[in-house]
Amino acid sequence: MEKQDIKILVVEDEEIIRKLFQQSFQHWGYQVDTAENGKIALEKFRQSEYHILVTDLNMPELNGLELLSRVKDKWPFVEVVVVTGFATVENALGAMKKGAYDFILKPVNLEYVHFTIDKCAQKILSQAENAELRQVNQQLRQLNELKDKFLYITNHEIRTPLTIIKGYLEILEALVDQRDPDVEETVQILKETTEDLVDIVERMHMLGDLEKSSLAGRVEVFDVKKLLTRVYRSVFRLYESRKIELRVLADKGALFVRADRQQLNFVFLELLQNALKFSPDGSKVEARLEKKGEELHYTVKDNGIGIPFEKQDTIFEKFYEVQDSTNHRTSRSEFLGGGLGIGLSLVKEIVQSMGGKILVTSEPGSGSTFKVILPITVNSEVGEQNASRTAAQS
Ligand code: ADP
Repeated sequence: MEKQDIKILVVEDEEIIRKLFQQSFQHWGYQVDTAENGKIALEKFRQSEYHILVTDLNMPELNGLELLSRVKDKWPFVEVVVVTGFATVENALGAMKKGAYDFILKPVNLEYVHFTIDKCAQKILSQAENAELRQVNQQLRQLNELKDKFLYITNHEIRTPLTIIKGYLEILEALVDQRDPDVEETVQILKETTEDLVDIVERMHMLGDLEKSSLAGRVEVFDVKKLLTRVYRSVFRLYESRKIELRVLADKGALFVRADRQQLNFVFLELLQNALKFSPDGSKVEARLEKKGEELHYTVKDNGIGIPFEKQDTIFEKFYEVQDSTNHRTSRSEFLGGGLGIGLSLVKEIVQSMGGKILVTSEPGSGSTFKVILPITVNSEVGEQNASRTAAQS
């Protein structure tokens, strides 16, 4: 609601004052209507909506106090300003007791009238704004409930049939004639598509757990370099096909950490996959694992498309993608292939739940570097600060 939407009804039996108010209020940007007495005013209230009633107190037919009571009774949100002479100032106070917003004394001082009407309009506008905010809040609450319901449905109703499909696909794979390349390719496509679907559902499941702050961790001690090797192998097809030079570097020797293996796997894989997805064919990507004091540092650097500075915080929000969603291409391997836009928000939540942090530096057109710092190092073999290639690359 804007100031120009506010409608004022002026009720005054003295024509000269009625006209003065009408022209002044219009000049100040309000919509104005007039009535010569209380009876006509009530009739007008029944026919249209007004926000402010400016009424004289001493009028024939129906006086201002009576009009005020009736209007407040039926339309309690209408603000009333009464106009009265010095002689009847106690009436003005009576009007205030009956719910009038303010009073104006005759002879009128237009500057004061302007001030009073603007103040009254401001009150109406803030009330309208509050009402709108309450409505928006209510809509947000409903949307949130809907989203929870949606997450619940994906978690419980889609996971089970998906597990069955996966199981039967494996049986089918064993049964079909492997020598027929068409059949083999069909089964392969079915398997990969099902894997993609499983991946989406698993992410939604993780998101649901994060919302409930119940991302269950199964903490164990393991060699994090072995985990990185596995991650490296799992993206092999992705960078090979696109001729990306991928270097994976780590301190020499085993690097034991106490953490949730699955969650760390997700963090490593997600950042590496993003670096590959957002780098053009033939470019370079580097992942590095280092022990720094009691911290584990995992850095993924690419020379890809980069992220505009003003978006570098927003990418960690759920369902956010920098690229235009109308050009969305769902793919885990193609250049610029999009996901659900929840990978980085999950990574951030996981990292923070481990007491760590994630940092990003990026320049559009030059590439991005994501660094995860985790306070989880348990032990590593002594003195190997020099980075060297992991077993995965040798
Ligand atoms: P998605 O599933 O779409 O990859 P993410 O949450 O992992 O979602 O990432 C959100 C968005 O951040 C991506 O859609 C992309 O626009 C941007 N982004 C993430 N990593 C990189 C990167 N290494 N280079 C450029 N943009 C990136």
